[in-house]
Amino acid sequence: MSRTSRKNSWAPWRRAAVTGGAGFLGSHLCESLLHSGVEVDCVDNLLSGSRRNIAHLAGRPGFRFVECDVCAPGCADALTGPYDLVLHFACCASPVDYLRLPLETLDAGSLGTRALLAVAERDGARFLLASTSEVYGDPLVHPQPEDYWGNVNPIGPRSVYDESKRFAEALVSAHVRARGADAGIVRLFNTYGPRMRAHDGRVVPTFICQALAGKPLTVAGDGSQTRSLCYVDDTVDGILLVAASGAAHPVNIGGTDEVAVADIARRVLELTGSSSSVEFIERPTDDPQRRRPDTRLARELLGWAPQVPWEEGIKQTIAYFAAAQTAQAAQTAHAAQKSPQPLPQN
Ligand code: UDP
Repeated sequence: MSRTSRKNSWAPWRRAAVTGGAGFLGSHLCESLLHSGVEVDCVDNLLSGSRRNIAHLAGRPGFRFVECDVCAPGCADALTGPYDLVLHFACCASPVDYLRLPLETLDAGSLGTRALLAVAERDGARFLLASTSEVYGDPLVHPQPEDYWGNVNPIGPRSVYDESKRFAEALVSAHVRARGADAGIVRLFNTYGPRMRAHDGRVVPTFICQALAGKPLTVAGDGSQTRSLCYVDDTVDGILLVAASGAAHPVNIGGTDEVAVADIARRVLELTGSSSSVEFIERPTDDPQRRRPDTRLARELLGWAPQVPWEEGIKQTIAYFAAAQTAQAAQTAHAAQKSPQPLPQN
């Protein structure tokens, strides 16, 4: 199902700022808002985002790319607005990225959230924080409802992401209580789909790219740990519904089919027709064992439920990475043809 076929016609905003707009999820959000007639300032420092993700939006009426780091003092000045919606999605979200960039990750949740809340307050805009299922840590309650406080190691390697988002949630909640801000929080569970980076380390792109390349699929531990995958189109719809709802409390948005990592590997092998083997690798520190959102609130408050069966979403994502690999191979062949031949040795 393409985003165009699910065009939102109800968007109540005129102009939005989307931080992290050149990232995987951010670029889909920019696209959806533009489709709904909302002008978009896409804000990104390109640390984990890419111009490629927004190349198709450049030049569209109402779209503007602002290259800046939301934590840098001058960035807010470049966000001239006025906005009626601020979506704060700028943050490394892949374990590989946030373990490589721990301080930047903490800054995005603290300094970045503070700066963007100020922009929203200046313009009287609705503010929405992209939070995460990681605030539940390695959960002791299953599935996870929004009123579960979580089980997080505050000093482990993953804490830079978990605590950054938990602090950001505290900041948003304090602004709602102390300053009457119109601000909300969406807790996102494992979203996947086209425009993920091949090497961002997350399970879906990693397994698909390994399968397409005929390399072993690297299953962490024994692969019994679970995740609930949500296709990007469903996640984007959920985010915009939370934004429009005016809710000040967190809302879970995520898939309801809980799948073991080993089963994701199996399914990817079947759907790609790959003969790759499976290689069991060491489990990352504090890797949550089970994860599934309780989505009752999203259903009752927003009428939201995921629409794309995970097998269908995986097929779309495989098609995306297969096309990207073919384009890359053609480019490499073209470059090799153009490069000068070595002189004969005699
Ligand atoms: N995983 C895996 N092999 C990989 C990448 C990830 O088995 O090559 C596992 C990882 O250990 C975790 C699950 O897949 O248990 C989901 O990891 P991901 O990084 O996609 O997201 P997370 O939910 O941990 O943020």
